[in-house]
Amino acid sequence: MQTPLPDYLAHVIEACDIDNSGHLADYIPELANANPNRLALAMSTVDGEIYSVGDDDIEFTIQSMSKPFAYAYVLQQLGIEAVLDKVGVEPSGEAFNEISLGKDRRPKNPMINSGAITTHSLIPIKDDLESAEILRQFMSALAGRELRFDEAVYESEVKTAYRNLSIGYMLRTVGILETDPVDIVNGYIRQCSILVTVKDLVRMGSVLANGGVDPKTGKRLLNRSVVRQVLSVMMSCGMYDAAGDWLSTVGIPAKSGVAGGILGVLPGQVSIAAFSPKLDEHGNSVRGIDILERLSRDMGLHLMEGTPSAQTIVQSHYRTGKDASLSVYVLRGVLKFTEAEMLLRILQAEPMDQSTIVIDLTQISIIHDVGKRMFLEGIDRLIDDGHTLLLVDPEQRLDHARTHKDRTLHVYQDIEDLIAQLKDAEK
Ligand code: GLN
Repeated sequence: MQTPLPDYLAHVIEACDIDNSGHLADYIPELANANPNRLALAMSTVDGEIYSVGDDDIEFTIQSMSKPFAYAYVLQQLGIEAVLDKVGVEPSGEAFNEISLGKDRRPKNPMINSGAITTHSLIPIKDDLESAEILRQFMSALAGRELRFDEAVYESEVKTAYRNLSIGYMLRTVGILETDPVDIVNGYIRQCSILVTVKDLVRMGSVLANGGVDPKTGKRLLNRSVVRQVLSVMMSCGMYDAAGDWLSTVGIPAKSGVAGGILGVLPGQVSIAAFSPKLDEHGNSVRGIDILERLSRDMGLHLMEGTPSAQTIVQSHYRTGKDASLSVYVLRGVLKFTEAEMLLRILQAEPMDQSTIVIDLTQISIIHDVGKRMFLEGIDRLIDDGHTLLLVDPEQRLDHARTHKDRTLHVYQDIEDLIAQLKDAEK
């Protein structure tokens, strides 16, 4: 059996190929030379499996899709508060290159150029490296390969960067930039000239989808709080003056770039990247938008659709042993707040007596911190009621936790063995 996913992705780009509308970005002269027919799509699952179709080995400049990664880098280095002092998080409803500041004289968010230029200025310089080089190394670590700059695109944009320079001078005037704005703008433009394929983008995106841990290596590259901040800003500001439309129709945190790329990241699920150079009036890839809209619709990826995972927390409950005195709960799925609440509500129905309750966690895939705290609290209350609690947790997901009343948990490896033992003891 071969998974149908690549066929499905090929079908999607075929369906989107017919739309020839839009125009190439020509304010960066070199981008006007791009092949307008290019079309590529890639997807990475949260565990790092990558599927891709079309021109998936063609490199193009990352442009504004570098902004969330630069933002992530400075947040990780400086902390969220220090970055918020300089750049806000309010959607601007303006074009990406608007020469604007918020009422508080900070750039409104890090996804428009004024915020991204400011973000670039915050990169702490180390080992005498240029700031764009520091970012290139960081993005290469996320992509799992050595990325490089497109010198021609860089030179061409630097020569015609009048608008970004005026943004830089404005930022210097109000003291948001503290050093030479020309150097900072040039560094920002260099950051935009890093070359990527759609496969690189989804691999970089998979680290965000996976809460900051590279799913391929298991290494933590970003803190969870940083990832949450970056994805929030991508959701509210990533598509500039089309952000509201994007949120309601596609519902996936995303960032576009004027070379024709779009990267979408759905936390805990997938990252998706599309590439096609012709842009709409907001500077977003026409076919890229179409592709992400279709995927969101077909695969139910809209963030606001929610996942009804809570229906599955108790896979089965049965009573066994002499006089049905053993109450056994087999759990499965993810244990977060919603599921923990449901579980505790079910356990509430246990009669107050001296009986033994067995809870099998073998098939629980993830235990969220809140889920764990609520679960342990529930255990304490059941023990207070007079029950004996036995847990099956072969992978030690509760990692030797003690209950809140500091009781040791009785943890076993295998449900069958445990029940056999308990029945023997009854004889
Ligand atoms: N380098 C481009 C600029 O600053 C990036 C813009 C974009 O991709 N939207 O104008």
